[in-house]
Amino acid sequence: MVNGKRAVERCDFLGIAPYSDTEDGLYRGYLTPAYAASQRVIARWMTEAGMTTRIDAAGNLVGRYEGAGSRPALIIGSHLDSVRDAGRYDGPLGIMLGIECVAVLSAMQERLSFPIEIYAFGDEEGSRFPLAMLTSRAVAGVLECDIEEPVDSAGASLSDALASYGLETQAPVAADVPGLQAARHPGALAYLEAHIEQGPVLESEGLALGNVTGIAAQRRFSAFVSGRAGHAGTTAMMLRRDAFAAAAAMVLAAEECARAEDADRVATVGSIIVGPGAANVVPGAARFTLDVRAATDEACAALADAILAKFGAIAAERSVTLSVDALHHLPASPSDSRLLELMDAAIADEGLPARRLVSGAGHDAMILSALCPTAMLFIRCREGISHNPAESVTAEDCTLAGRVMLRFIKLLEDFHGA
Ligand SMILES: [Zn+2]
Repeated sequence: MVNGKRAVERCDFLGIAPYSDTEDGLYRGYLTPAYAASQRVIARWMTEAGMTTRIDAAGNLVGRYEGAGSRPALIIGSHLDSVRDAGRYDGPLGIMLGIECVAVLSAMQERLSFPIEIYAFGDEEGSRFPLAMLTSRAVAGVLECDIEEPVDSAGASLSDALASYGLETQAPVAADVPGLQAARHPGALAYLEAHIEQGPVLESEGLALGNVTGIAAQRRFSAFVSGRAGHAGTTAMMLRRDAFAAAAAMVLAAEECARAEDADRVATVGSIIVGPGAANVVPGAARFTLDVRAATDEACAALADAILAKFGAIAAERSVTLSVDALHHLPASPSDSRLLELMDAAIADEGLPARRLVSGAGHDAMILSALCPTAMLFIRCREGISHNPAESVTAEDCTLAGRVMLRFIKLLEDFHGA
């Protein structure tokens, strides 16, 4: 039987030093001492569950449970790294549940027509180097970065960190980019990731699990509002061109636009800088970010267009100038439609309603979709809290998640093996 309690306890075990790089609170960076210590323990758990283990060229820990056929591997994974002052389940829980699934198959001496490989990805959060999902990009063969470039806060480059971890980095991966030879050839049968929801939907509906339809499209902009600075005491209100007041109106307009749409569409202004920034000066400049997400590329573009049109109208009304730069655009990453149906069936076989939902947050699954069909299972977390030590899940929900994952694996066997 799947042991969800053990999966939770193992995440808790990894939540403190030496499996955390900080004594207070959890922080596990990519290729740090805590990362190495965690890999050693998890490798032991993988071995006990009947797997062989290796560390790939990107520093990912990989456990492999052999199959009886010649089909490509099913990858089950999530990330081992964390943000600073993190919760214990964001990432590691998906790895632990994968190990639990293999432990069950191994105990029953059951071999499938495909091997299972459990990946503990090294860098998803981007909390050490300013690059997220670095190691899943390497595995999917879509990493485009010069490993000399990213530098951590202590001044160590990514290539230094890899070298001191004992990893070879000389050979080119793609084009002429020297990098991480972790790409899989010829690919994989499928990728399955279980992850805490990091949102409140499942809890508010009284559901333990959700079937993730895909990862939301994301557009990010930098907006610059230019008005006219002036004396706070002598500039008449009617004559002001206050850049901060205009930006504030834009922030509220973004919120209003997103609220008018369905719940899958969100818009956030998370950062603003006002200049010149003195109590006795009317602000002449304001720069802020806008992050827009929606389930589909079309919906995301439509919401972003609507918000930017409002910004333009506000700028004209208030006689300030507005310029907007697109910072990045991440297309939506839908789960595979056949795997979505298998996951619905696996959830229904456990007697649970098959609730489908979109992920507003990015995950390694969106990267792995370049390699193979992907599926994700969300697990209810208390009050939707994540990236916070208060992150919490129940052992019962995790047991259910593991049971659904095992059913999914069996359905995949029948589906492809027939
Ligand atoms: Zn995560």
